[in-house]
Amino acid sequence: MSDKRFSRPATVAVTAGRPDLVPDAPFNTPITMASTYVGGGDVEYGRYGNPSWTAFEDALGELEGGRCLSFASGLAAVATILDLVGQGQKVVAPRHSYNGTIGQLSDLEARGRITTQLVDITNTDECIAACEGASLVWLESPTNPALEVADIPAIREAAHAAGAYVVVDNTFATPLRQKPLEMDVDIVVHSATKYISGHSDVLMGALITSDDELFAVLKKRRDLLGSVPGTLEAFLALRGLRTLHVRLDRAEENAKELVRRLEGHPAVAEVRYPAFGAIISIVLAQGAMAADLLTHKTKLWVHATSLGGVESTFERRRRWKVEPATIPDALVRMSVGIEDVEDLWSDLETALDDLT
Ligand SMILES: *Cc1c(COP(=O)(O)O)cnc(C)c1O
Repeated sequence: MSDKRFSRPATVAVTAGRPDLVPDAPFNTPITMASTYVGGGDVEYGRYGNPSWTAFEDALGELEGGRCLSFASGLAAVATILDLVGQGQKVVAPRHSYNGTIGQLSDLEARGRITTQLVDITNTDECIAACEGASLVWLESPTNPALEVADIPAIREAAHAAGAYVVVDNTFATPLRQKPLEMDVDIVVHSATKYISGHSDVLMGALITSDDELFAVLKKRRDLLGSVPGTLEAFLALRGLRTLHVRLDRAEENAKELVRRLEGHPAVAEVRYPAFGAIISIVLAQGAMAADLLTHKTKLWVHATSLGGVESTFERRRRWKVEPATIPDALVRMSVGIEDVEDLWSDLETALDDLT
């Protein structure tokens, strides 16, 4: 669907990446199980393309405003981009990037492949200064789980002036709340595992760029590394994407109400919420033990990692050894789902009251 009259995000989410509307055509691109294709065409082999990937890529690409490539996971997309950084070159990244991204950067640095400079993305001057001599500036905004927000246009400008590429991990915001390509960044990355799929049943990643040359470079890299998604995953991710706007609106509405109520609860010392989206981070007044107790006492809220599903989940982030020490020990990251907000609050309030 490329009719400009119907380009509002909710309509794109529902209509993009469909087969042509001709009599007896299925509404959805069928799952194509194929490792190879009859020779002589454009695709030839299952690692180079699949109609189920293409349908998903067309839809997410249209939502972000560029061309999309799908991957086996968010980290597979991250690895494919980092693989393009030249030997010994410098990458700037948020010190509170997703811990898997930090893991890849430190692994590459430990092996002498790249150098990294980690920055506080709320400190725009520090970020701008760090761009000097960089070949890649990685941004994640809001960050996971600190929920810090970067001044993307200002940092993007400094990065381009220094000749660096700019990537934004847009997993938390989704294209419905933030469109980095409109701010002239080079590549957008998603863990499609999260809001895009939205039902906690798929691992998938994606990148989107509006630069055709860069797209060709990235496609070649995906072909080479083979970090491609499964066909069923692509089908499910697109099925999830169809309701992204409805899920996100509802989860965000729930999150805003919970933020108001959490701010008034004596067991909660701090509530972090970036004004949009459905992730809240709270810091428990009585420390890490109280945070662990909270995440094991609820009936509706599920103690689990990951985020962006229809179900409300939460966890104390520092239970992971790799989480940086600058994340408070008693911080609980909450992924607000689409259940009834009164039930969500009642479950939380009961557990929080028990702590005080
Ligand atoms: C989960 C996540 C990733 C990694 O994605 P996977 O699909 O788990 O590999 C990357 N960035 C952010 C912000 C994430 O939340």
